[in-house]
Amino acid sequence: MKILVANLGSTSLKYRLFDCSGKEEKLLTRGGFERVTDYAAAIDSCLSELKNGGFITSEKDLAAVGFKPIIARDITGCVRMDERVLQAMEAYREVAPAHNPPYINGVRIFSKKMPSTPMIGLFETSFYQWAPKAAVRYAVPKSWYDEGVRRWGFHGASHKFIAERSAELLGRSDVAERVRMLYVNNGATPIRKPDLRVVSCHLGGSSSLTAILNGVGMCNSMGMTPQAGLPQNNRVGELDAFAIPLMMRRQKLTVEQVEYALSKEGGLKALSGGFNDMRDIRKEAENGNEDAKLAIDVLVWQARHWLGAYFLQMNGLDGFVFTAGIAENNPWLRSRICANLDQLGIKLDEEKNASAPSGQEVEISAADSKVKIFVVPTNEELVIAREVKRFLENH
Ligand code: ADP
Repeated sequence: MKILVANLGSTSLKYRLFDCSGKEEKLLTRGGFERVTDYAAAIDSCLSELKNGGFITSEKDLAAVGFKPIIARDITGCVRMDERVLQAMEAYREVAPAHNPPYINGVRIFSKKMPSTPMIGLFETSFYQWAPKAAVRYAVPKSWYDEGVRRWGFHGASHKFIAERSAELLGRSDVAERVRMLYVNNGATPIRKPDLRVVSCHLGGSSSLTAILNGVGMCNSMGMTPQAGLPQNNRVGELDAFAIPLMMRRQKLTVEQVEYALSKEGGLKALSGGFNDMRDIRKEAENGNEDAKLAIDVLVWQARHWLGAYFLQMNGLDGFVFTAGIAENNPWLRSRICANLDQLGIKLDEEKNASAPSGQEVEISAADSKVKIFVVPTNEELVIAREVKRFLENH
């Protein structure tokens, strides 16, 4: 069973092809295109690469194309990306303006090119379908809540990967298996009694922390939109809602100008004075740029803020996992986030941390740390392939 997982950006198409026939999924090949202006042509090139490489002889060899859509109105989970789902994504275009439009467009083109191949999406929100009501509710009128003004949570595929992998690393593959079954039996209730408590810290182009109780997402630091929570590369993160009407009046800003400022000029870019890549921010900070130092301080503060909140809500922690581009490649930042937490049983082995090779799975906690600390490279595409396979087997 070959499953193509396609990651659709506004000007990029990245893909991975998995063979999901056996118990362990196998990555057959991967590739991608940047600066895409003609999406149909990019999809053609992707299919040609698969054929020329001998991975498929025709499109018919693909059991499905899997996607990682962000959010749709009243729809979550792993679903067939039919017109009803695309309309529901259209209805939430404003919630994820950078993500929903390219996905809708890309899925439509894929469907047109391959009408008999199932198009299956695992929504980023689906990892949080069992989150407690108190964790998702904002204190707004019920009519706002009914419009979707609530915490949804994102990075679902990444945090789900960490949930399953951390359970295995902590010797609890029974929990990983339980999570898989929850997805099959949608509607089943997860176990609430603290059994395995993990915090997944995804720091990358966008960042979020998730509390994972018994393999299930309890809360994610992003909110109604992926613009909330930690400062993102150029998206604002946490902000008091009343700042918006204030600045609209003071600076006579339009809705579009506010959206632009908060989604394109905010986050680490705003704090550091124009840098949105951690490599540049760090270099600037080392050269004495105070704004860049502050950007790092805010990111560290916010990451610790959520870690602390989750530690308390789950009555402690068994595992703390760093993942994604920033967290996987910057030991000094991991060290800053874990500093002075020994009273909570969180203690880094500084040497192991500093010498951890980039891009590899490694434990970095001290021998006497109560909480096991890991770096685990995330694998969102694998999660999609697994769920698509499960979907095909059950439908
Ligand atoms: P995205 O969320 O877009 O997938 P990534 O998870 O790849 O992004 O994270 C991008 C971030 O990771 C950037 O801020 C970049 O500075 C940082 N990063 C990636 N590779 C490295 C590296 N080798 N050293 C330091 N930082 C890195």
